[in-house]
Amino acid sequence: MPERTRYRDRHIGPDAAELARMLAKVGGGASLEEFIAKAVPAAIRAAAPPALPPLAGAPEGAGALGEERARAELERFAARNGAHRPMLGLGFYASVMPAAVRRLMLENPAWYSAYTPYQSEISQGRLALLLAFQTMIADLCGLDMANASLLDEASAGAEAMMLLRRTCKDDGRRVFLVDADSHPQNIDVLRTRAAPCGVEIRLCAAAEDFAAGAADAFGAYFSYPGSSGRLADWRETVARLREDGVPAVMCADPLALLLLVPPGELGAAVAVGSAQRFGLPLGAGGPHAGFIAFEAGYARQAPGRIVGVSKDRQGRMAFRLALQTREQHIRRDRATSNICTAQALPAMLAAAYAIHHGADGLRAIAARVHLHAAGLATALRAGGKCQLRHEEFFDTVSFEHPDAAGAVAAAAAAGYDIRVAGEVVSISCDETTTEADLEKIAAACGGEWQGLPATADLPAALRRAKPALPHRVFSQNASEHAFMRLLRRLAHKDIALDRSMIPLGSCTMKLNAAAAMEPLSDARWNGQHPFAPAERLRGMNELSDDLGAMLLSVTGFDAVSFQPNAGSQGEYAGLLAIRGWHRERGDEERRVCLVPASAHGTNPASAVMAGMEVVSLESDAEGGVDLDDLRAKAAAAGGRLAALMLTYPSTCGIYNDSLAEACRIVHEAGGQVYMDGANLNALVGVALPGELGPDVMHINLHKTFCIPHGGGGPGAGPIVCKKHLAPHLPGHPGAPEGGRRDGAVSAAPLGSGMLLAVSWAYMRMMGAAGLRAATGTAVLAANYMAKVLGERYGMAYASSSGWCAHEFVLDLREFKKSAGVTVEMVAKRLIDMGFHAPTVSFPRPDTLMIEPAESESLAEIDRFCEALLRIRAEIEKVAAGAWPQDDNPLANAPHPAADLLEGWEGRPYSAAEAAYPLPWLKEDKYWPPVGFVDQVFGDRNLRCALAPDEEI
Ligand SMILES: *Cc1c(COP(=O)(O)O)cnc(C)c1O
Repeated sequence: MPERTRYRDRHIGPDAAELARMLAKVGGGASLEEFIAKAVPAAIRAAAPPALPPLAGAPEGAGALGEERARAELERFAARNGAHRPMLGLGFYASVMPAAVRRLMLENPAWYSAYTPYQSEISQGRLALLLAFQTMIADLCGLDMANASLLDEASAGAEAMMLLRRTCKDDGRRVFLVDADSHPQNIDVLRTRAAPCGVEIRLCAAAEDFAAGAADAFGAYFSYPGSSGRLADWRETVARLREDGVPAVMCADPLALLLLVPPGELGAAVAVGSAQRFGLPLGAGGPHAGFIAFEAGYARQAPGRIVGVSKDRQGRMAFRLALQTREQHIRRDRATSNICTAQALPAMLAAAYAIHHGADGLRAIAARVHLHAAGLATALRAGGKCQLRHEEFFDTVSFEHPDAAGAVAAAAAAGYDIRVAGEVVSISCDETTTEADLEKIAAACGGEWQGLPATADLPAALRRAKPALPHRVFSQNASEHAFMRLLRRLAHKDIALDRSMIPLGSCTMKLNAAAAMEPLSDARWNGQHPFAPAERLRGMNELSDDLGAMLLSVTGFDAVSFQPNAGSQGEYAGLLAIRGWHRERGDEERRVCLVPASAHGTNPASAVMAGMEVVSLESDAEGGVDLDDLRAKAAAAGGRLAALMLTYPSTCGIYNDSLAEACRIVHEAGGQVYMDGANLNALVGVALPGELGPDVMHINLHKTFCIPHGGGGPGAGPIVCKKHLAPHLPGHPGAPEGGRRDGAVSAAPLGSGMLLAVSWAYMRMMGAAGLRAATGTAVLAANYMAKVLGERYGMAYASSSGWCAHEFVLDLREFKKSAGVTVEMVAKRLIDMGFHAPTVSFPRPDTLMIEPAESESLAEIDRFCEALLRIRAEIEKVAAGAWPQDDNPLANAPHPAADLLEGWEGRPYSAAEAAYPLPWLKEDKYWPPVGFVDQVFGDRNLRCALAPDEEI
C-alpha cells in the first residue's frame, strides 16, 4: 500500500524529507523518536505510546483505521442510534437545517476552521454574521442588546442569574426566585452555580410565591413558555417585582417569540434561551447557541463576547469584539464570566437559517408549529380520555392520561418519543411535524384526529404587535443565489485554516479533517434528542464510551465526564469536584485556590465561579510554578488550601521540571491539583499527565483532538480525574451518571454529543503510534521555528534544556523602544502577508506566542517564518530612520486595496511595498476588507446590532 494513504500522513504536515530537514536544523537526531528522547524530559516521558483500548467488535483490534474503515465504523455507530421522532421538548426540538446552510457553512472550512475573531480585520465576515445573530436575538427578545452566544440555554440562565447578582446593590439579597415550570436541567444548572456563591434557589409555582420572596431576592427567572408548554402572562408579576427592586430574566423560545410579545415588552430586564430550533441538529444535546439579551445598562457587566460596530482608520464601518475589558483574559478573577470558547459557529448557522427563511418564512414556520399543537389539542379533547393541563400554549401540549405509561408506549410503538412525568404526558410539535405524525400520536394517546384547524390563535394579551425582524438582512436574501453570494462574500473577507496556517500559541490550530467532520451532517448521527430513551442513544453512548476509554488511556486518569462544553467549563466542573471532595471530608473551609500569574485568564475566573478565593503565585523563569512561593502560600493558606491550578507544559511552552514537586507540596498540605490541559498537544502519546501528580484535568477537544474552532466555538471540555474524585463529577437530572442526578454544569449529559465523533475519528485514524508522531512533529515544528526565528528575534523565556515544547514565545519589547513598533503592528502587518497573527501578549505583554502544531508542511512553516523575518527587516529600517516611526508599512498595516489607489505620492514607501512585500503574494494575495479597526471609538459609541436598513 502506498504510504500516503495512511490517515496520519495526511494529518501530519511534513513528509519524511521535510522531517529530516527539520531534525537537521535543530540537531534533533536521526529520527523523530531520537528527537522525542532529547526534547521531552526523561522524568515525564513514556517509553512507548500508551496503547489505545481495542475497538469493540472490530476484528483487527486497535490498529489505526483508514478513512474508509473509520467511515464504516461511524456509520455502524449511527445505525445503532434509534430513528424515532423526538417530540420530547425540554428545550430541544427537531429542526431542518436548509441544504444551502449545510453545504455552504457547516461543511465549509472557510466557516468552521476559523479562529475566534480577536483579529478584527481578518474576521469581518464572521463578525458580520455574529452581528446578525445579535440583532436577531435582541429584536426577538425586545431588548437592547444580545451577545454573540453562550454555551447552552441552561448555562445562559446561570450567567443571567450571576449578572443580576453582580449588579444588585444590596448584598443581603441572596435569593433567586425560579419559575417551577422550568426545564429540570435548567433548574439543576442554576442550583449548581448558585451553591458555591451563597445564592439560594427558591422555586415559585405561582405569582404569590414570587411576591412572597421579593424582599430577599436579587432576581427572578421565568420560563416563557413553561416547561409544560403553558403560556402564562407574567406581565403584572414582573412589574411588581421590578417595583420591589427585583429584575426578571425570561428563558424564552426564540421560535415562539416570532408570534409572542417579547420578554422586554413584558418587563424582563434579561432574556436567555437556545437558538437550537433555528436549524441546528439535536446532536444529543449540542452544540447549540445559547443566548442572552439584556437592557443596555447591563452591557459592561454582561457575560461572554459582544460584537460591536466601530470604524477603521479610514472611517469605514468595521466590526470587532466590544468591551473586551470585561473579559477573563483581562479581568481574571474579577471578570464577568469565564467564557472563552462560546458557540460562534452554531450562532452563525442560526443567523444563516433566519436569513435563509427571512422574517416571513420564520413567522410561517412558527405559525405552523402552533397550528399543529392546536390540532393535537383538539384531537386529544375530542377523544375524551385526556385532560389538558392548560389551554394556552405555543408548541407543547400537556395532559393527564389515565394510563400515561401506556400512551407513551403506544406512541413509541408508532415511532415517536413523547415525554411523561407521573400521570402527565407532554408532546412538543416542531418544524418537522406533519399532519400524519399528529394523527398517529393522537391515536396512541386516545385522541380523535379532527384534521388541522383553519387557524389557531395565541392568547390575545400575548400576541406580538410589532412584526419581528424588520431588518433588510432578514428579507433581502431569500433567493438562493442571493444567499449563496452573501455567504461567499462574507467568507471571502476572512482568514481561516483554508487559506494559511494559524500559529496561535495555546490554541492548537490543526487539521479538522473532512473525514472526521462527515458524521456532523448525518441525520442518523446528529438527530438524537439528549433525553430520548437510552436505546435511541445506543450508538452515541457506545462512541462516547470508546472515546472516553481512549482519552483515559492517553492521559493516565481513571474517570471522565463529557458534560462541560468548553475548557473553561471543564475548569469550573473540575474545581467543583475538588470542592465536593473537600466537603465530603468535612473540609468546608478549604476554599483557597492558588493560580500562577502566568495562567490563562479562565483559571482565576473559573475558581471564583466555584466559590474559591484566588491567590496568585509567582512563576519561575520557565513559566513553571515558583516552588518557594508555592510553599509559602500553601503554608499561609494552611487548612484553607483547596487547590493549585497549573498548566503543563507551562503557558510559556516549556516542559518545566517543577510539576512533580508542586503536586507533592500541595498534596501534603491537603490540597488537590487541577491541571489545565490546553497544552496536551505537547503530551499525547509521549507522557501520561495522570501519572505525574495532578488529580483532575480538562481536555480541549477543539484544540488537541481536532474539533474545529468554528470562529469561536463550539468547543468541548471533558474532564478526566483520578478515582477519588470520580464520585464528584457532574451528575445530570436527564441521564444520571453513577446515580448522580444533580450537579449538572450543562443542559445535556454529554455536553455536545454529536461533536464527539470528530475526536473519535481523529484518535482511531491516528492510532497510538500516530498520536505520538503527531506530538513529536508538533514539538519538532516549534523547535524548528524557534531556531529559525531565534536568529533575528529574542525569546521571552529561556528553557534550561535548550528545547521548547509545542510552542514558544518571542519577546518584542525592544522594538517599541528602538522603532516605535508594537506587537500589535506586527500582528497587523502579518495580515498584509496573508497570515493570521500568533497569540498576542500572552502570557506576557509585548510577546508573540507561536504554536505551529503538526499539520503544517515545512513549506508552509517556512513561508510563515519568511513573513516574520521580512517584518524583522522592516523594523530594522524604521529603527535605522529610513522610514518615519509614524508612517511605515508596520504602523499603517493592514493595507486594504482601496487605500493603495490614491494619495501615494510622497509616501515614504511604495504601494507595492505595502501590498506585496514577499514574492509569493503576487500569486495569491489576501486583501483585508478594512484597515486598522478603532477599538476605542467602538467602545465609546457602543452599538451591537444592525440598523434595519443596513446590509452586512
Ligand atoms: C484555550 C485555553 C483555555 C480555555 O479553554 P476554552 O475551551 O476556550 O474555554 C484555558 N487555558 C488555556 C491555557 C487555554 O489555552
